[in-house]
Amino acid sequence: MASIFSKIIAGEIPGDIVYQDELVTAFRDINPQAPTHILIVPNKEIPTVNEVTNADEAAMGRMILAAKKIAEQEGIAANGYRLIVNCGNHGHQEVFHLHMHLVGGRPLGPMLYR
Ligand code: AMP
Repeated sequence: MASIFSKIIAGEIPGDIVYQDELVTAFRDINPQAPTHILIVPNKEIPTVNEVTNADEAAMGRMILAAKKIAEQEGIAANGYRLIVNCGNHGHQEVFHLHMHLVGGRPLGPMLYR
């Protein structure tokens, strides 16, 4: 079954999409933890970092390049921000479609945002 993020990417359920290309899609987190909280997601449904393969290298790189562009668009590039990828149980991953959180817009404190 398609993940909730695949449904947003496909336009089947609503998402506040801020960036999309042939490899990745980015949309606002539904429960933001900071003034800017965006999820950057490979269009291909990869459950966790543990399932990433060499074939996904371009998409993984694109996620970082998209983060850079979006941070500029959001006006948070100069002050800085945090990129987070949770993996599995101990990483507190809730949605099993790999994603990178782009969090910023305020000082975030050391390491973990909650
Ligand atoms: P993680 O704990 O890293 O798996 O984070 C999952 C994130 O997905 C959480 O921050 C949720 O608020 C967010 N989320 C869940 N459902 C949606 C949705 N439909 N649209 C946007 N963000 C979502």
